[in-house]
Amino acid sequence: MKTYNIALIKGDGIGPEIIDEAVKVLDAVSSSFDFDFKYEEVLMGGCAYDETGDPLPQETIRIALKSDAVLFGAIGGEKWDNLPREKRPESGLLRFRKELGVYANLRPAIVYDELINASSLKPEIIKGVDIMVVRELIGGIYFGEPKGRDDNKGYNTMVYTKDEIVRIAHQAFKIAQKRDKRVCSIDKANVLDVSQLWRDTVTEVAKEYPDVELSHMYVDNAAMQLVLNPRQFDVMLTGNIFGDILSDEASMLCGSIGLLPSASVGEKIGVYEPIHGSAPDIAGQGVANPIATIGSASMMLRYALGEIEAADQIDNAIKRTLQEGYRTGDLSQFDAKEVCSTSEMGSIIANYATKK
Ligand code: NAD
Repeated sequence: MKTYNIALIKGDGIGPEIIDEAVKVLDAVSSSFDFDFKYEEVLMGGCAYDETGDPLPQETIRIALKSDAVLFGAIGGEKWDNLPREKRPESGLLRFRKELGVYANLRPAIVYDELINASSLKPEIIKGVDIMVVRELIGGIYFGEPKGRDDNKGYNTMVYTKDEIVRIAHQAFKIAQKRDKRVCSIDKANVLDVSQLWRDTVTEVAKEYPDVELSHMYVDNAAMQLVLNPRQFDVMLTGNIFGDILSDEASMLCGSIGLLPSASVGEKIGVYEPIHGSAPDIAGQGVANPIATIGSASMMLRYALGEIEAADQIDNAIKRTLQEGYRTGDLSQFDAKEVCSTSEMGSIIANYATKK
């Protein structure tokens, strides 16, 4: 029997509620395979600041780096919004990604047929959408120097080195090879020098993947095309800030932010987390949708642990649950047969994910 060591970061707000459901599903699915999980819970975010004075204690990095993968809920909340920037939960998360070297953020945006009416776009526009946004995560304007502000002026710098672009481009092409073999690289090369380097470098890397078709698109056009004709995209390759914005836009094609998982991967380790935040407005009420986090657990099985069959079992269980009309509150207006709590939703998926 193989045991996988998983670092669990529940975080703030709805974080603990949704992680508990993902763990329920992981344990259920593992019962039909020859592996199990050993979880080690560590702190990050506002709860870590409250307990240790640091939103990212060193211990969290140490445990994360010696585990097989990290499963993460969400951090942040109003309570910590007025702390100095380096003490805020969000700073802890940025530092965490940097320390772990997770440079590639993979965000699938899939429109489930059962939820086709949940999108704000017309069904005929979004039916069959299946996009993977591959976003560079630890470079670009969120990290570039110099940066600063005084009373009169604020500035940040968008910097990318060739090496940083090469490694994220390889990720995108490799993922495209397992999908529809199309990469659309997003930039602002008509205005930004950093984007021209991005475009030239991606074009060079593409030569190693003759089976994958490469196109380029300016980010403003991409924002428009995503709502005009989203089916045209397979893999979207982006820098940090462009991907941050476009992947949120892509997520809304799918109906609820509570549905969408993500993986942040690097050479050492991967962090698996929903794309949404800590949703303080609904925390503690038992109404959060756990599907994004359960889907992230499935990505962990697929990408970090190579347990493809188990991942498929979870993905199929999510689909079946939606097909049968179970919905959490965020999706209750869309063909719901039964509205469930966070925990009921987790139990239904866990049950379907267990091979009988
Ligand atoms: P949010 O994603 O937390 O919430 C946006 C809206 O979506 C809210 O109305 C919320 O109730 C709803 N929502 C989010 N997840 C849901 C779920 N699983 N089920 C049902 N509804 C859900 O974004 P926000 O309100 O802008 O930010 C709240 C806090 O989260 C802030 O402190 C922010 O900094 C932090 N944040 C953290 C992360 C992260 O941990 N990765 C990401 C984004 C925001």
